[in-house]
Amino acid sequence: MADTAAAWAAAVATIWLMSRTRAADRHQVLVIEDDETIGRHLEAGLKGGGYGAHWCRSGRAGLTLAREYSPDVVLLDLGLPDIDGIEVARTLRAEQPDLLIVILTARSDEIDVIVGLDAGAGADDYLVKPFSLTVLLARLRAHLQRRPATAQDTDPLRVAGLVVDVAARRCLLRDREMVLRPKEFELLVALARRPGIAVTREDLMAQVWDENWFGSTKTLDVTMAALRRRLSESLPPTTEPGGLGLPNITTLRGHGYRLELPSTP
Ligand code: CA
Repeated sequence: MADTAAAWAAAVATIWLMSRTRAADRHQVLVIEDDETIGRHLEAGLKGGGYGAHWCRSGRAGLTLAREYSPDVVLLDLGLPDIDGIEVARTLRAEQPDLLIVILTARSDEIDVIVGLDAGAGADDYLVKPFSLTVLLARLRAHLQRRPATAQDTDPLRVAGLVVDVAARRCLLRDREMVLRPKEFELLVALARRPGIAVTREDLMAQVWDENWFGSTKTLDVTMAALRRRLSESLPPTTEPGGLGLPNITTLRGHGYRLELPSTP
Protein backbone atom coordinates (compact mmCIF):
# COMPACT_ATOMS: atom_id res chain seq x y z
CA MET A 1 0.00 0.00 0.00
CA ALA A 2 2.74 2.40 1.04
CA ASP A 3 4.66 1.53 -2.13
CA THR A 4 1.65 2.31 -4.29
CA ALA A 5 1.17 5.65 -2.57
CA ALA A 6 4.85 6.49 -3.01
CA ALA A 7 4.70 5.50 -6.69
CA TRP A 8 1.65 7.72 -7.18
CA ALA A 9 3.31 10.62 -5.43
CA ALA A 10 6.39 10.22 -7.64
CA ALA A 11 4.24 10.06 -10.79
CA VAL A 12 2.30 13.16 -9.80
CA ALA A 13 5.53 15.01 -9.01
CA THR A 14 6.93 14.03 -12.41
CA ILE A 15 3.83 15.22 -14.25
CA TRP A 16 3.85 18.46 -12.29
CA LEU A 17 7.51 19.04 -13.14
CA MET A 18 6.88 18.24 -16.81
CA SER A 19 3.96 20.64 -16.97
CA ARG A 20 6.07 23.36 -15.31
CA THR A 21 8.88 22.83 -17.79
CA ARG A 22 6.48 22.91 -20.71
CA ALA A 23 4.83 26.07 -19.47
CA ALA A 24 8.20 27.79 -19.19
CA ASP A 25 9.27 26.68 -22.67
CA ARG A 26 5.99 27.45 -24.36
CA HIS A 27 5.80 30.12 -27.00
CA GLN A 28 3.20 32.74 -26.22
CA VAL A 29 0.69 33.78 -28.85
CA LEU A 30 -1.52 36.85 -28.72
CA VAL A 31 -4.65 36.64 -30.87
CA ILE A 32 -6.21 39.99 -31.87
CA GLU A 33 -9.50 39.09 -33.52
CA ASP A 34 -12.97 40.55 -33.05
CA ASP A 35 -14.82 37.58 -34.51
CA GLU A 36 -16.03 35.60 -31.50
CA THR A 37 -16.06 32.19 -33.18
CA ILE A 38 -12.64 32.53 -34.78
CA GLY A 39 -11.09 34.04 -31.65
CA ARG A 40 -12.37 31.30 -29.39
CA HIS A 41 -11.38 28.59 -31.85
CA LEU A 42 -7.85 29.98 -32.22
CA GLU A 43 -7.30 30.38 -28.51
CA ALA A 44 -8.43 26.82 -27.78
CA GLY A 45 -6.55 25.40 -30.76
CA LEU A 46 -3.30 27.14 -29.84
CA LYS A 47 -3.51 25.93 -26.26
CA GLY A 48 -4.24 22.44 -27.56
CA GLY A 49 -1.16 22.77 -29.80
CA GLY A 50 1.08 23.47 -26.82
CA TYR A 51 1.21 27.27 -27.02
CA GLY A 52 0.32 29.81 -24.40
CA ALA A 53 -2.54 31.88 -25.84
CA HIS A 54 -4.27 35.17 -25.02
CA TRP A 55 -7.18 36.48 -27.04
CA CYS A 56 -8.52 40.02 -27.25
CA ARG A 57 -11.09 41.64 -29.52
CA SER A 58 -9.76 45.10 -30.36
CA GLY A 59 -6.63 46.79 -31.63
CA ARG A 60 -6.28 48.92 -28.53
CA ALA A 61 -6.56 45.94 -26.19
CA GLY A 62 -4.10 44.09 -28.43
CA LEU A 63 -1.47 46.83 -28.21
CA THR A 64 -1.84 47.02 -24.43
CA LEU A 65 -1.60 43.25 -24.02
CA ALA A 66 1.41 43.04 -26.36
CA ARG A 67 3.23 45.57 -24.17
CA GLU A 68 2.36 43.85 -20.91
CA TYR A 69 2.84 40.34 -22.00
CA SER A 70 5.61 40.39 -24.68
CA PRO A 71 4.28 37.50 -26.78
CA ASP A 72 6.44 35.64 -29.30
CA VAL A 73 3.71 35.75 -31.92
CA VAL A 74 0.73 37.97 -32.71
CA LEU A 75 -2.09 36.68 -34.90
CA LEU A 76 -3.69 39.84 -36.15
CA ASP A 77 -7.06 40.28 -37.81
CA LEU A 78 -7.12 43.23 -40.22
CA GLY A 79 -10.74 44.27 -39.77
CA LEU A 80 -10.86 45.38 -36.15
CA PRO A 81 -13.57 47.58 -34.62
CA ASP A 82 -11.31 50.39 -33.38
CA ILE A 83 -7.87 50.65 -35.02
CA ASP A 84 -7.07 49.49 -38.53
CA GLY A 85 -5.14 46.20 -38.44
CA ILE A 86 -2.37 47.64 -40.64
CA GLU A 87 -1.81 50.40 -38.09
CA VAL A 88 -1.72 47.84 -35.29
CA ALA A 89 0.89 45.85 -37.23
CA ARG A 90 3.03 48.94 -37.80
CA THR A 91 2.89 49.93 -34.14
CA LEU A 92 3.68 46.40 -32.95
CA ARG A 93 6.60 46.16 -35.36
CA ALA A 94 7.99 49.53 -34.26
CA GLU A 95 7.73 48.63 -30.59
CA GLN A 96 8.86 45.01 -30.79
CA PRO A 97 11.15 44.37 -33.76
CA ASP A 98 11.56 40.64 -32.99
CA LEU A 99 7.87 39.88 -32.72
CA LEU A 100 6.46 37.41 -35.24
CA ILE A 101 3.36 38.99 -36.78
CA VAL A 102 0.92 36.87 -38.77
CA ILE A 103 -1.89 38.77 -40.44
CA LEU A 104 -5.25 37.07 -40.78
CA THR A 105 -7.29 38.31 -43.70
CA ALA A 106 -10.65 37.44 -45.16
CA ARG A 107 -9.68 38.01 -48.78
CA SER A 108 -6.70 36.70 -50.69
CA ASP A 109 -6.55 39.81 -52.93
CA GLU A 110 -6.11 41.87 -49.79
CA ILE A 111 -2.70 40.26 -49.31
CA ASP A 112 -1.34 41.88 -52.48
CA VAL A 113 -2.48 45.26 -51.25
CA ILE A 114 -0.93 44.76 -47.81
CA VAL A 115 2.34 43.45 -49.19
CA GLY A 116 2.50 46.53 -51.41
CA LEU A 117 2.14 48.78 -48.39
CA ASP A 118 5.45 49.61 -46.81
CA ALA A 119 6.83 46.07 -47.06
CA GLY A 120 3.70 44.51 -45.65
CA ALA A 121 3.40 46.83 -42.66
CA GLY A 122 6.02 44.65 -41.01
CA ALA A 123 4.06 41.39 -41.05
CA ASP A 124 5.99 38.13 -41.35
CA ASP A 125 3.24 36.00 -42.78
CA TYR A 126 -0.38 36.04 -43.94
CA LEU A 127 -3.20 33.56 -43.68
CA VAL A 128 -6.43 33.79 -45.63
CA LYS A 129 -9.58 32.82 -43.76
CA PRO A 130 -10.87 30.23 -43.48
CA PHE A 131 -7.64 28.38 -42.74
CA SER A 132 -7.23 25.13 -40.89
CA LEU A 133 -5.66 24.92 -37.48
CA THR A 134 -3.21 22.35 -38.86
CA VAL A 135 -1.94 24.89 -41.37
CA LEU A 136 -1.63 27.57 -38.72
CA LEU A 137 0.26 25.33 -36.30
CA ALA A 138 2.62 24.11 -39.03
CA ARG A 139 3.39 27.68 -40.06
CA LEU A 140 4.00 28.78 -36.50
CA ARG A 141 6.27 25.82 -35.88
CA ALA A 142 8.26 26.57 -39.00
CA HIS A 143 8.54 30.28 -38.25
CA LEU A 144 9.54 29.77 -34.64
CA GLN A 145 12.13 27.17 -35.55
CA ARG A 146 13.83 29.41 -38.05
CA ARG A 147 13.59 32.58 -36.01
CA PRO A 148 16.89 34.23 -35.35
CA ALA A 149 17.61 33.73 -31.67
CA THR A 150 20.65 35.99 -31.63
CA ALA A 151 22.93 37.92 -33.91
CA GLN A 152 24.74 34.68 -34.75
CA ASP A 153 21.86 33.99 -37.10
CA THR A 154 23.74 36.02 -39.67
CA ASP A 155 26.71 33.64 -39.49
CA PRO A 156 26.92 31.32 -42.49
CA LEU A 157 25.63 27.78 -41.96
CA ARG A 158 28.33 25.14 -42.34
CA VAL A 159 27.63 21.46 -42.94
CA ALA A 160 30.32 19.17 -44.30
CA GLY A 161 31.91 20.94 -47.26
CA LEU A 162 28.89 23.17 -47.64
CA VAL A 163 28.68 26.83 -46.61
CA VAL A 164 25.31 28.54 -46.84
CA ASP A 165 25.50 32.27 -46.31
CA VAL A 166 21.88 33.25 -45.75
CA ALA A 167 22.59 36.97 -45.36
CA ALA A 168 24.51 37.12 -48.63
CA ARG A 169 22.29 34.49 -50.30
CA ARG A 170 25.34 32.57 -51.42
CA CYS A 171 26.13 28.93 -51.29
CA LEU A 172 29.58 27.37 -51.57
CA LEU A 173 30.36 23.71 -51.91
CA ARG A 174 33.99 22.97 -51.23
CA ASP A 175 34.75 26.63 -51.98
CA ARG A 176 33.00 26.47 -55.33
CA GLU A 177 30.02 28.77 -55.73
CA MET A 178 26.77 26.95 -56.42
CA VAL A 179 24.07 28.76 -58.34
CA LEU A 180 20.66 27.85 -56.92
CA ARG A 181 17.18 28.97 -57.78
CA PRO A 182 15.38 30.82 -54.95
CA LYS A 183 13.30 27.85 -53.77
CA GLU A 184 16.27 25.48 -54.00
CA PHE A 185 18.28 27.89 -51.88
CA GLU A 186 15.52 28.20 -49.28
CA LEU A 187 15.07 24.45 -49.18
CA LEU A 188 18.78 23.99 -48.56
CA VAL A 189 18.69 26.66 -45.84
CA ALA A 190 15.75 24.92 -44.13
CA LEU A 191 17.73 21.67 -44.02
CA ALA A 192 21.08 23.24 -43.19
CA ARG A 193 19.60 25.02 -40.19
CA ARG A 194 18.95 21.62 -38.67
CA PRO A 195 21.71 19.32 -39.88
CA GLY A 196 21.37 15.70 -38.79
CA ILE A 197 17.73 16.26 -37.87
CA ALA A 198 14.69 14.98 -39.77
CA VAL A 199 12.65 17.86 -41.16
CA THR A 200 9.08 16.97 -42.07
CA ARG A 201 7.58 17.66 -45.49
CA GLU A 202 5.01 19.81 -43.75
CA ASP A 203 7.67 22.00 -42.15
CA LEU A 204 9.59 22.33 -45.39
CA MET A 205 6.43 23.33 -47.25
CA ALA A 206 5.65 25.91 -44.60
CA GLN A 207 9.18 27.31 -44.57
CA VAL A 208 9.88 27.39 -48.28
CA TRP A 209 6.47 27.91 -49.86
CA ASP A 210 4.12 30.49 -48.50
CA GLU A 211 1.00 29.41 -50.28
CA ASN A 212 -1.50 27.01 -48.85
CA TRP A 213 -0.08 23.66 -49.88
CA PHE A 214 -3.09 21.45 -49.31
CA GLY A 215 -3.22 18.86 -51.99
CA SER A 216 -0.08 18.04 -53.92
CA THR A 217 3.34 18.49 -52.40
CA LYS A 218 4.84 17.50 -55.74
CA THR A 219 6.56 20.87 -55.94
CA LEU A 220 8.71 19.87 -52.95
CA ASP A 221 9.83 16.66 -54.68
CA VAL A 222 10.62 18.52 -57.88
CA THR A 223 12.65 21.18 -56.07
CA MET A 224 14.43 18.58 -53.98
CA ALA A 225 15.38 16.65 -57.13
CA ALA A 226 16.74 19.86 -58.66
CA LEU A 227 18.70 20.70 -55.51
CA ARG A 228 20.24 17.24 -55.40
CA ARG A 229 21.19 17.51 -59.04
CA ARG A 230 22.90 20.84 -58.44
CA LEU A 231 24.74 19.48 -55.42
CA SER A 232 26.06 16.51 -57.35
CA GLU A 233 26.93 18.67 -60.38
CA SER A 234 28.85 21.05 -58.15
CA LEU A 235 30.96 18.31 -56.62
CA PRO A 236 34.50 18.01 -57.83
CA PRO A 237 34.43 15.22 -60.44
CA THR A 238 36.15 12.59 -58.33
CA THR A 239 33.80 12.70 -55.34
CA GLU A 240 30.53 10.99 -54.56
CA PRO A 241 27.57 12.57 -52.72
CA GLY A 242 28.00 11.77 -49.05
CA GLY A 243 31.63 10.84 -49.59
CA LEU A 244 34.63 12.76 -48.26
CA GLY A 245 32.49 14.74 -45.86
CA LEU A 246 30.34 16.20 -48.61
CA PRO A 247 26.67 16.84 -47.90
CA ASN A 248 24.06 14.21 -48.50
CA ILE A 249 20.30 14.56 -48.21
CA THR A 250 18.47 11.45 -47.04
CA THR A 251 14.83 10.87 -47.98
CA LEU A 252 12.70 9.67 -45.08
CA ARG A 253 9.81 8.04 -46.84
CA GLY A 254 6.42 9.36 -45.75
CA HIS A 255 8.11 11.83 -43.37
CA GLY A 256 10.59 14.26 -44.85
CA TYR A 257 14.29 14.80 -45.37
CA ARG A 258 17.51 15.03 -43.40
CA LEU A 259 20.73 16.77 -44.31
CA GLU A 260 23.35 14.37 -43.01
CA LEU A 261 26.15 15.52 -40.81
CA PRO A 262 29.53 14.41 -42.07
CA SER A 263 30.63 11.09 -40.65
CA THR A 264 33.78 11.53 -38.64
CA PRO A 265 36.65 9.73 -40.29
CA1 CA B 1 -12.67 41.25 -38.03
